[in-house]
Amino acid sequence: MCYAIPARVIKIEERFATVEYFGQKRKVLKDLLDFDIGDYVYVQAGMAIRKIPHLQAQSILKTWKVLFSKLKNQDESLINKSYSGLRLSKPYDAIIKKIDEKRRLSVTDYLYLLNGVSSDEGKFSQQLANRIRNKYIDNSCCIHGIIEISNYCVRDCLYCGIRKSNKKLKRYRLKLNQILEAVDYAVNSRGFKVLVLQAGEDAYYTKARVLEIIRKIRQKYAVLIFLSLGERSESDYQAFFDAGVRGALLRFESANPKIYSALRPEKKLEDRLKLIKSLKNIGYLVATGFLVGLPNETDTDILNNIKLTKKLKPEMYSFGPLIPHLDTPLASLKKIRLAKMLRVISLARIIDKKSRILVTTATETLAKPAKEKALSAGANSLMINVTPIDFRRLYDIYPNRRSRNIKVETQIARSLKLLYRLGRAPTDIGAQ
Ligand code: SAM
Repeated sequence: MCYAIPARVIKIEERFATVEYFGQKRKVLKDLLDFDIGDYVYVQAGMAIRKIPHLQAQSILKTWKVLFSKLKNQDESLINKSYSGLRLSKPYDAIIKKIDEKRRLSVTDYLYLLNGVSSDEGKFSQQLANRIRNKYIDNSCCIHGIIEISNYCVRDCLYCGIRKSNKKLKRYRLKLNQILEAVDYAVNSRGFKVLVLQAGEDAYYTKARVLEIIRKIRQKYAVLIFLSLGERSESDYQAFFDAGVRGALLRFESANPKIYSALRPEKKLEDRLKLIKSLKNIGYLVATGFLVGLPNETDTDILNNIKLTKKLKPEMYSFGPLIPHLDTPLASLKKIRLAKMLRVISLARIIDKKSRILVTTATETLAKPAKEKALSAGANSLMINVTPIDFRRLYDIYPNRRSRNIKVETQIARSLKLLYRLGRAPTDIGAQ
């Protein structure tokens, strides 16, 4: 199973190299791997992570070549589908004209796209976002794996099912050998090249323990590691980076400091943002974003969330709906509708044209065809849950998580089928 296209190295300059596949060139970082001009490498999130023997690379490329152009054609044909029949109002038309002419939109325009649009206009915005995705970043779609290593948490976030006050939840923590088994399965049996290790803020995972996990993974597996362990000291994160971690997934949750503090007791938005900025300074690829549908949140807040994510120059946007959990103080909150989530996704794409936007599991959990709709509204990234299934059910941040009972093989098969139908290449090759 292959989730990346081998790329040939054609130029090397200090920390960077230029690689090429099917005539497309990409600049990539080379600090995780030693290689020479002429070598074939797998690239994930703009980083070369693994060398591939020449013969193997050429055979994979041969298989890919036919599929690659077929997928591109399929993507083109879907985005060129006729817009006719959709009824658009004059104010909406005027906003679309501004976008076409690359003129600045006003806050009122953005808010109209977020909440003023009719159902036809919403559909038009999704198609437009999909065209923008195709035009600016083509049809690649990265598929990362996530392993949820512990559901212990010292925090008490009002929205989260694994908050420390939820005494009903059975807690678990994967042992080192269980983590390595999960990594082995994901990398060697299923071909994953990027893995996110996620947990609640669990004090058991001291700096030394996390370093041991990282070293053991790095010794045996050519995989790009993202950590999603919450707020830790800058020096911890520096040590993890030095040990070979290159990505961090840390949402700021809400750009509104009042909403943030109301939902995360004893925590301040400015500290979270300071940490996210430090991670970027260290050199991390940062995936970040927010929750949609928080109490007292306005559309202006949602717009500000998108704008703040863009300002943070993330490797990937990670945002999703808040899904109320019965054993939290937000049990009676109404979750947002998929239609609204699609507006947020398409607006994020309109605002940040070259971005990578993840279809989060929470978005998928909103309604059945959400994944397809989100990918057709500007999103271009997927995450597959590779946590051992018995533990996955216990990582109960919100109820009925979409893939909690589905075997990894099935998740992969379904995702690939969908991507091929939509003309997307399940690859991730280069950041620019
Ligand atoms: N401890 C890490 C942190 O603080 O980033 C990672 C674990 S935390 C559970 C991962 C994410 O789950 C949070 O950033 C939050 O946005 C999301 N989350 C928590 N509760 C949720 C809910 N009820 N619905 C949707 N997403 C939720």
